[in-house]
Amino acid sequence: MKPDLPDILTRDQHPISRRQIDEDCLKVLYRLHRNGFKSYLVGGSVRDLLLGRTPKDFDIATDATPNQIKRLFRNCFLVGRRFRLAHIRFAGNKLIEVATFRREATPEELPDDPDDHLHFVQNLFGTPCEDAFRRDFTINALFYNIADFSVVDHVGGLVDLKQRQIRVIGDPLIRFVEDPVRMLRAIEFAARLDFKLCDNIVPAIEKHMKLLATAAPARVREEIMALFRYGIAAPVLHQCRELGMLPHLLAGYPGTNEGIAMLAQVDARTRSGITIDESFALAALYLRLFMDSCPSEHSTPITAALQSANDILTPHCRYFSIAAGIRIQARDLLISCFRLMRGRGRRGEQKFLRHPATATALELFTLWTKVRPDLLPLLQEWNTVTNTPGRPVDTPVRRKRRRRKKNATKNQP
Ligand code: ATP
Ligand code: MG
Repeated sequence: MKPDLPDILTRDQHPISRRQIDEDCLKVLYRLHRNGFKSYLVGGSVRDLLLGRTPKDFDIATDATPNQIKRLFRNCFLVGRRFRLAHIRFAGNKLIEVATFRREATPEELPDDPDDHLHFVQNLFGTPCEDAFRRDFTINALFYNIADFSVVDHVGGLVDLKQRQIRVIGDPLIRFVEDPVRMLRAIEFAARLDFKLCDNIVPAIEKHMKLLATAAPARVREEIMALFRYGIAAPVLHQCRELGMLPHLLAGYPGTNEGIAMLAQVDARTRSGITIDESFALAALYLRLFMDSCPSEHSTPITAALQSANDILTPHCRYFSIAAGIRIQARDLLISCFRLMRGRGRRGEQKFLRHPATATALELFTLWTKVRPDLLPLLQEWNTVTNTPGRPVDTPVRRKRRRRKKNATKNQP
């Protein structure tokens, strides 16, 4: 890697066409450019366009400072701790993120007080080349320059794209200590793109994986959810298990074969186009452990199941600061799976069937039966009641209410 000599692909040497770039993103790129600023498409979108994939979002980098960006766009909001990023809003809740080129701080220039480091580092603006070098992997550091429609590569990312490999910019032993989340991201991108990891990555992960436990939980949570959203939770967590990384990443998650097989089912569901929310992901993650903790399905009372669902989910949700609403939804999914597991004919079955969460739980349980085919007859039994349209499910409940009312009048003086 030669920091001073970027490889440049001119418009006729790469396949990226402006037609593939979001319209509003193009408007932002052009306006920055017309006003005399450098204006690049950066990050995942350039990588994905070069691979012929559809980018999830389009990020822009420029040499305009956040305040200069704000002056150019009426619909611009500066966000992040102490104004580090510009968000430009468009119709339909669309957000285009515009960042000023930044660079890494050298240890000597950091302020004496560690509390001031974050502010200092986040506002350290740099050149495009320095901005490329502070990024995580070479394939994530490619730029598309709107001035001449060229692709600019400071870090050797084009070669790695061609060779389908994830290469850390700089020395993984240093970059993983700087930011341990990069270890997870390396495995994540390899799985998403079906790339291999460069040889120096696994040894560096083996050396530094313990540091994952010191990473900001909010960032780890975000990356874990990304695994579910991209439908790669099973392969990534499997590899994390093989590397011995799971205890540092998800302390309470055992990652058994059945647990991972369940995640593979969830991944298949996501890849079929169904959006996954965090409560579903959480319930799927811990379903196997939960089922294990309710050993004799027929005798465990619901309160004991509730207790074990809480015991499993609460430490996870506390560590990752997951809102109570999500935790309770996940807990209800687990409890509903427990009810499904106990089989039909229990007290409160009609009420259970009418509960809004039951359909989702049934979906989760259906995935579980693909891991545990011995449960298929049980599922079929449930499907006979849940799939019958127009079934008078509310009759028994109405009867029950009437009885209560009668009692109430009887007891009145
Ligand atoms: P996605 O398609 O998931 O959005 P992405 O490559 O855009 O993939 P983001 O998480 O959106 O990934 O990050 C945007 C860019 O920011 C990355 O492409 C990378 O250049 C840089 N980046 C993200 N996380 C890190 C990190 N931990 N260390 C260094 N650079 C990072
Ligand atoms: Mg992105």
